[in-house]
Amino acid sequence: MNSAFLTFNAGSSSLKFAVFDGGETALEPRLKGLIAGLGGGVPAFSAKDATGVPLDAGALGALGAASDHEAVIALLLPWLAAQLGDVPLLAVGHRVVHGGQYYAGPTRVTPEVITRLAGLEPLAPLHQPHNVAAIRAVAKWQPDTPQIACFDTSFHRTQDRLAQLFALPRDLSDEGILRYGFHGLSYDYIAGALPEHLGVQADGRVIVAHLGNGSSMCAMKDRKSRATTMGFTALDGLMMGRRCGALDPGVVLYLMQEKGMSANEVAELLYKQSGLLGVSELSNDMQVLQASDSPHAKEAIALFCYRAASSLAGLLPAIGGLDALVFTAGIGENSALVRKLICEQLAWLGIVLDDAANEAGQSTISAASSKLRVLVIPTNEERVVADASRALIA
Ligand code: AMP
Repeated sequence: MNSAFLTFNAGSSSLKFAVFDGGETALEPRLKGLIAGLGGGVPAFSAKDATGVPLDAGALGALGAASDHEAVIALLLPWLAAQLGDVPLLAVGHRVVHGGQYYAGPTRVTPEVITRLAGLEPLAPLHQPHNVAAIRAVAKWQPDTPQIACFDTSFHRTQDRLAQLFALPRDLSDEGILRYGFHGLSYDYIAGALPEHLGVQADGRVIVAHLGNGSSMCAMKDRKSRATTMGFTALDGLMMGRRCGALDPGVVLYLMQEKGMSANEVAELLYKQSGLLGVSELSNDMQVLQASDSPHAKEAIALFCYRAASSLAGLLPAIGGLDALVFTAGIGENSALVRKLICEQLAWLGIVLDDAANEAGQSTISAASSKLRVLVIPTNEERVVADASRALIA
């Protein structure tokens, strides 16, 4: 390796990082790692090289409690420099959740960009402040290293105006209260992988179901986003691990006006106590729910799948039908049960699953008799950030 790119994915309580070869578009990073337990917990560091061998934490093994992103990055950058030896770091690419209406693609970070991104924090309060904190920390500790911001919203800037509009008074739409959509880096990766799986049909009508702790769907035509289930915030659309997904806005009014809940209490309820966790009263983790005999866990899984199938149907007018359905992310890639329950409710579209292929998690899980192809494609958001950084630096 003659040069390297570093990618950061800063979440509310974690920082994921990966190092990619600067010279080639490799699928897998040369090393990757995770620092969990940030922002109040006890931080835990783990990292491994390309062959899966764990790497020694060094000074990162002794991270203090309540370390924030800035403190962690202050230690992580020298640790990474030691791993790289004399291999130069060409740039740091960041996953940034919100680019607002400003960015239809990755952008080189400048002080003006940081100010704009910080201005979008109220639109994505769970993610954006941490993304911006990571960018600021790199700018502070390694000011000469170029930084690239890659947005979860950018992929959806190709949506028609109607797919972006709420039926609200026009001045609010003009102000930017629009359906932005998220998980764009994941959709970008899948869009790039579709031709390998579907040939010319890749440019047809495809819905990608990104089902993980956060879940959404994207309806694509010509491998571009035409509609998506997340909206102004990452709260809308599908039921998620802890988020409620689409909700009658009258429920919010009722909670505030009749039950006297504050805006913060409602936010906590909708973002953190709802979804799989709220309905199951057990866990936000699909694996835990699948292993449970509790009727509430079973109902949570059933609701997750029903809502996914009905949301998929709601996307169809934007692309005029369906040629292929792709499952990705933690649940989409790993839960044969969820894929089966969703596809059963879409049998009217002509979907027939090959049960053995589905159980085995093969890349094509539809039967030969199915009217449309159903695929499982693992996503790779880090790769999209690394490739975008490489393209911009070049
Ligand atoms: P992500 O946010 O993409 O990392 O996905 C996390 C979700 O994937 C959690 O709900 C996990 O329980 C779920 N998941 C991961 N592996 C499996 C599995 N083998 N079966 C069912 N769900 C899984």
